[in-house]
Amino acid sequence: MTSLMAKSVIDKTSEKLELFGSIKELARQKNAVILTHIYQRLEVQRVADFVGDSLMLSKKAAETNADIIIFCGVHFMAETAKLLNPSKKVLLPDIQSGCPMADMINVDDLRAFKQAHPGAPVVCYINSSAAVKAESDICCTSTNAVDITRSLDSKEVIFVPDKGLGEWVQYQVPEKKIHIYDGFCPTHWQITSAEVDRQRINHPDAVIIAHPECDPEVWRRADFVGSTSEIYKFIENSHGRRFIILSEQGLVARIQADFPEKEIMTVFPLPLCPNMKYHSLENLYDALDKEYTEITVPDSIAKSARAMIDRMMEVSNRKETWSGPTTQNS
Ligand code: SF4
Repeated sequence: MTSLMAKSVIDKTSEKLELFGSIKELARQKNAVILTHIYQRLEVQRVADFVGDSLMLSKKAAETNADIIIFCGVHFMAETAKLLNPSKKVLLPDIQSGCPMADMINVDDLRAFKQAHPGAPVVCYINSSAAVKAESDICCTSTNAVDITRSLDSKEVIFVPDKGLGEWVQYQVPEKKIHIYDGFCPTHWQITSAEVDRQRINHPDAVIIAHPECDPEVWRRADFVGSTSEIYKFIENSHGRRFIILSEQGLVARIQADFPEKEIMTVFPLPLCPNMKYHSLENLYDALDKEYTEITVPDSIAKSARAMIDRMMEVSNRKETWSGPTTQNS
């Protein structure tokens, strides 16, 4: 029985290795670049040319000379890649991979929110559709949201769609009044303050690290609050040994794999974004082979949406940006 099980594991592993090699070869033949968000399954991260967060992958998408960008992330990320490099064919292996937070606001919602706060410029989290970006004044990511908001010459600012990150920006930028939209990340908001308190009691020596997309009651309890890249860098550079990460499972798994000498824990139930797990080696190969699903952006909104991302890049380019995990694949 045991040897049958072992054989099945070996067969599966060699199938995966073969598929891995086929994807790499096909990407080479088609001059395709594989960009993968760090919340993806580890096997999809391993086959990527670049792994990172939204900001880092946006920059890679803008710079690439590849003919095809295959984006293993959620829909708005592939859309952003298309906005930044419109002559490229941008593919999303599984079209179901959307972001519930981005879907919590549409153009009509934003227009109504703007009417309620006339004159306030709109900072739009990159986790939003191209249409919502086009209706805003500047984009941001969780890494640069505070700097972007501070850079605005206005005492009042509208922040959409994430209320967790919006409250974090308000906390960091008290000199401005931030009008925060009521969107949220269902994955980060499943982490409760009671669970964080329980972890603190059970592991008093561990450093608790939260993503700002969490409920403010959660990130207020953390020792460090940071974006995906900031969480990664914090642990990489820390002399501490034990950490509890309040963020998505893919990031936790990657940090566990990259820093085996550290004890990396998370909370229960595991914060897992199902939308980030649709892509697999199998559908990545098929998407590259048959060149689906192509992501496009209507011309009527592409120019304005792109301008909002360019404005963000101008501000964030003044600072050093993350180059991805230490064990970056290329
Ligand atoms: S983790 Fe949250 S913000 Fe990210 S894709 Fe999933 S639902 Fe959207």
